[in-house]
Amino acid sequence: MLENNFITHIFRPEVLALSAYHVANAAGFIKLDAMENPYSWSEEIKQQWLAALKDCALNRYPDPEARQLNATIKRVNNISDEFEVLLGNGSDEIIQLLLMALPPTASVLSTTPSFVMYKQISDCLGLRYHGVPLLADSFDLDLPAMLAAINEHQPSVIFLAYPNNPTSTLFNDAAIIKIIEAANGLVVIDEAYAPFADASFMNRLGQYDNLLVMRTVSKLGLAGLRLGYIAGLPAIIEQLHKIRLPYNINVLTQVSVEFALSNHEIFDQQTQAICSERARVFQHLNELDGITAYASAANFILFKTPKDQATAIFLAIKQQGVLIKNMSPQAGLLTDCLRVTIGQPEENTAFLAALQKSLAL
Ligand SMILES: *Cc1c(COP(=O)(O)O)cnc(C)c1O
Repeated sequence: MLENNFITHIFRPEVLALSAYHVANAAGFIKLDAMENPYSWSEEIKQQWLAALKDCALNRYPDPEARQLNATIKRVNNISDEFEVLLGNGSDEIIQLLLMALPPTASVLSTTPSFVMYKQISDCLGLRYHGVPLLADSFDLDLPAMLAAINEHQPSVIFLAYPNNPTSTLFNDAAIIKIIEAANGLVVIDEAYAPFADASFMNRLGQYDNLLVMRTVSKLGLAGLRLGYIAGLPAIIEQLHKIRLPYNINVLTQVSVEFALSNHEIFDQQTQAICSERARVFQHLNELDGITAYASAANFILFKTPKDQATAIFLAIKQQGVLIKNMSPQAGLLTDCLRVTIGQPEENTAFLAALQKSLAL
């Protein structure tokens, strides 16, 4: 038996205060909770992929710099040689690396709501995290409040998810530029949902030295492989390389992502199908009595349910075999809100039917 207080003596107070990032068990459900691409590959493509994997040297450490994959990422994203790219075990790992590199008293700024890992990792490291509320009507940036927070907290890093998770909004780009210009520290534009949005800051890298653009292959359709990347000036990326674990991208991921990105047409059609389903689900949601859906530039839709009913509706939908995400416990602007990931047409139809039935209860 561990002695009383053993755990509290061993671990940092910041760690003791955290709660683990909870992922619901989705076994047996229609899974519309995690922004995954619902489509798999054709048999033919799978065979080609297996052939590419066949000669992977599992007995050897992978290329520590993943040079070939790094070059492919730069090519498919049109990132010029003035900039460097760091690969991470998911963009989650890149957020962690970046924050680990800051001084212990540094401030980190983002919006509320936004992607939860910015705060979770900042809290774990004992950094000073500040979330500036978005505008209530539009979920857009509150620029005066952002500029005031920059002035007050002098953040070392500002994270802006573009489009934002969980609101799926593309923030006003003129406001983002004002923020980049006002910041004394780094600004990370997190483009996890770039495949579904018609906007990006990747081509503005050359205009601002403090700008970093981060992406991931997870939402595109390769969430199982865990690969994210961030692009910026070499002097910045170099610092992150120093604290990266040497073999953070395993060989199966290196070869599989390389294969998938070199066969980009696999995803083009899937992305198109997801975007057209997004339009159908959005319209159907807004036709339901008591539901307000917010326009989406990503592969999910946030919607508001009648007052104080979000959790009951979430559970009633789950009871019918469809798993979405209850955002209402996060409170603030997310009170009464649920989030659904766009799935295959028949999954979306099952979700809409389950929601309609839940509303009638
Ligand atoms: C999903 C998500 C990520 C994490 O992506 P991984 O590469 O799978 O770690 C990062 N940022 C935002 C905004 C996301 O929604």
